[in-house]
Amino acid sequence: MYKSFLIKYGEIAIKGKNRYLFEEALVCQIRYALKEAEGEFHVRRLQGRIYVDAAGEYDYDEVMQALSHVFGIVGICPVVLLKDEGFERLAEDVIAYMDKVYPDKHLTFKVHARRARKNYPMDSMELNAALGEKILEAFPEISVDVHNPDVLLCVEIREEINLYSMEIKGPGGMPVGTNGKAMLLLSGGIDSPAAGYMTAKRGVALDAVYFHAPPYTSERAKQKVVDLAKILSKYSGPIRLHVVNFTDIQLFIYEKCPHEELTIIMRRYMMRIAEHFARANGCLGLVTGESIGQVASQTMQSLAVTNAVCDMPVYRPLIGFDKNEIIAVSEKIDAYETSILPYEDCCTIFVAKHPVTKPVLKTIERSERKLEEGIEERMKTALETTEVIEIK
Ligand code: ATP
Ligand code: MG
Repeated sequence: MYKSFLIKYGEIAIKGKNRYLFEEALVCQIRYALKEAEGEFHVRRLQGRIYVDAAGEYDYDEVMQALSHVFGIVGICPVVLLKDEGFERLAEDVIAYMDKVYPDKHLTFKVHARRARKNYPMDSMELNAALGEKILEAFPEISVDVHNPDVLLCVEIREEINLYSMEIKGPGGMPVGTNGKAMLLLSGGIDSPAAGYMTAKRGVALDAVYFHAPPYTSERAKQKVVDLAKILSKYSGPIRLHVVNFTDIQLFIYEKCPHEELTIIMRRYMMRIAEHFARANGCLGLVTGESIGQVASQTMQSLAVTNAVCDMPVYRPLIGFDKNEIIAVSEKIDAYETSILPYEDCCTIFVAKHPVTKPVLKTIERSERKLEEGIEERMKTALETTEVIEIK
């Protein structure tokens, strides 16, 4: 029965000029998300509100699903839009609405009228009382509860009259595109997709880089990362995924450096390469799925040594999360089932029995000097042979 949806968004964060940018980006992201749903939709802004109108047939659940991916949306209200044809007609429409939406009338309600158009002949208090009375007359089983009603019927008098009583919670956050772009180090694990989601939620668009080590990591492991990027792109918008062939660099480190330092040195090369592509793509920072103390390469000392190779800020949105909290995010975004598929990871293949947990920068830098002859050309080859996959 609904042809339109009223989109509610958080207005506290958006003052002055930012409001326009916020709304523009939100409209743009809503249009992108609705491509997932069958049917034709129009998204429009009107007097500080955003409406989605369905042009014809559509699937309600699909639309809800699509809109639930759009950051910046706080609530989605299926709305009936009416022309103002006088109070009596409004009362009839309100009764018809209640009848259709609530087949079982054993409920309490409250009318919440708002007169945004000041030339309407009744004020909101009068409307509350008059419409309440009409509803009570029409349905004897219904009763009023002004404190804790089952149904809060909103009647907003605007250009058109907005009639709605349901608000489906949106994901919150900021529309993607309002806060620049970041480069996500995306592995096939649980953490990095969750980190990408958290970053996109703050309005940051994403590109991604994945370090692939064939033949040690398989095509299926790569496909898993592509699949995770697809899941993520439902929230973040299109992602340019860079697949870096990391094998030669890893083998070279393995050959030249102490094995207990492999992971940390390898991670430093990942960061260097990620930063290169971040700059080339206009990203303002790097994002990883690290969390303090989770593994040897994520102690405070290890993070400091990894960080030391980057000039760009490195964002770690999961830094204070326990694994179960990360899993909750992963499940919420429907990435978990994909993340736990048991394909090999380039980090685990060359992992030492006893990796250093408290690396010292000077020591690591000394070890890296053993790579001087040969690493440059391997880096160059890795950059040149990187495959770019556009994820939409
Ligand atoms: P994840 O679940 O994201 O794989 P993890 O718990 O396995 O994380 P690490 O393997 O130490 O932790 O990796 C830490 C972070 O480094 C990851 O969250 C990710 O951002 C990045 N990373 C690790 N391996 C890769 C890879 N092969 N390609 C791209 N980024 C990677
Ligand atoms: Mg991993």
